Amino acid sequence: MHTDRLYYSDGYLTDFAAAVVDSANGGCTVYLDRTAFYPASGGQPRDAGILGEREIVDLIDEGDRIAHVLAAPLQSAVAEGRIDWSRRYDHMQQHTGQHLLSAVWSELFDLQTLSFHMGVEVSTIELAAREVTQAQLDAVEERVNRIVREARNVSISLEDAAGVKGLRKPSQREGALRIVTIEGLDRSACGGTHVHSTAELGPIQIRGSEKIRANVRVEFVCGIRALRRAKRDYRVVAELARHAATSIDKLPEHASSVRERLVAAEKDRQRLALELARREGDMLYGRMAEGPDGIRRARIEVADLDDPGRAQAQAFAARSKAVMVIVATRQPAILVACSPDTGLDAGKIVKEKLTARGGRGGGSAIFAQGSLPDAAVAEAIVRALGFP
Ligand SMILES: [Zn+2]
Repeated sequence: MHTDRLYYSDGYLTDFAAAVVDSANGGCTVYLDRTAFYPASGGQPRDAGILGEREIVDLIDEGDRIAHVLAAPLQSAVAEGRIDWSRRYDHMQQHTGQHLLSAVWSELFDLQTLSFHMGVEVSTIELAAREVTQAQLDAVEERVNRIVREARNVSISLEDAAGVKGLRKPSQREGALRIVTIEGLDRSACGGTHVHSTAELGPIQIRGSEKIRANVRVEFVCGIRALRRAKRDYRVVAELARHAATSIDKLPEHASSVRERLVAAEKDRQRLALELARREGDMLYGRMAEGPDGIRRARIEVADLDDPGRAQAQAFAARSKAVMVIVATRQPAILVACSPDTGLDAGKIVKEKLTARGGRGGGSAIFAQGSLPDAAVAEAIVRALGFP
C-alpha cells in the first residue's frame, strides 16, 4: 500500500493522524497510509519530528512508500505525527528561495541551475557558467529581493507531462507532474515543500560564489537564516572592531595597516637577531682562552642551524686564530667557521669526514656545513680541527 504524501497538497500541515499499515525492524521502521513527513529529496533535507511519541531518526523515500525510522519501536495500529515546524519552515524558505534564485539567474543572464544543495548553515546552487561577476551577483540579489517585496503567489498544480508548457527545466517524467509556479516568473516540476508567497522568504542574501569544476557555485541564505547569519556576522565584525579599537567601517583599512606593520616588524626582528648573534660571536671570542697553538676554539650545541647561528660563527671566525663549531641536534648537522690564519681548511675537513660516513656537506676553507649521519662524525670533525 503506497503512502499518501500529505505535504504534496499542504506544505503547512504540522499535525496528522495515520494508520500504521506495515512495520519492520521490530517496530522501529513503520509505514503509514498517509504522512506529512518529508523524506530527503531534491536537495531538501528530511523532516524531523515525533510519530506516536517516538522520535523520528530517519525518513526513507522507497518510491511507493516512505519508511519512518523511529528511536523506539511502535506497536499501535494508529499514530499521531507532529513535524518539527521550525526546521521544516526553514527548509521551505531555502527551497522556495532556490526556485526564485534559479529563475532569476535564468531570466537575467540565461544561466541554468545544475544542482541545489541545502546545508545546515547555507545553501548552494551550481550554475552552468564559467564565471559570474560581482555585478551579476548584485543584480540577481537585487531582483530576487524585489520579487520578495512584491509578495508573488507561489502555487502548486498537477499537470499532465504530455501537455505541459513553459517549464524552466524540461522534465523527463511521464504522467502527472507537480508544477510549482512563482506568479509571472517561473514554472518548475518539483516534489518539495514550498511557501505560499515570495513574501514569506524574507531577505535573500547571496553570500558569494566560487568556481567548482567547470561551473560556478553560488552560496545563499533566505529568511530566518539570513537574519541569523547577518546577526552572527555583525557580532564577529563588532568584536574585531572592539579589539582593534576602531569602527567597523574602518576595519579593512586597519587590517592592512596592521599587516604592513607586522611585515616591517618582522624584517626588523630578523635584522636585530643577526646583529645580536654577531655580537655574541664577538663576545664569545673574547671569553675563550687560546690553546697551546695560539688558536681559540669554541663549540656550541643548538636545536637547529639558522641564520643567526651562522652569523655568530662567522663573527667569531672573523677574529684572528679562531675556530667555531656549531652542532645542531634536531636535524643533526654541523657548521664550521675558521679564520684563514689558523691554516685549517674547514671545507676539506667537513667533506672528508662526512663522505667517509655517508653524509653530505662541504664549503670553503673558512666556512663549511653538512648534515650528520651520526654523532660520532661530529667528534671526528672537531678532533680534526684540533679540539681537545
Ligand atoms: Zn521545489
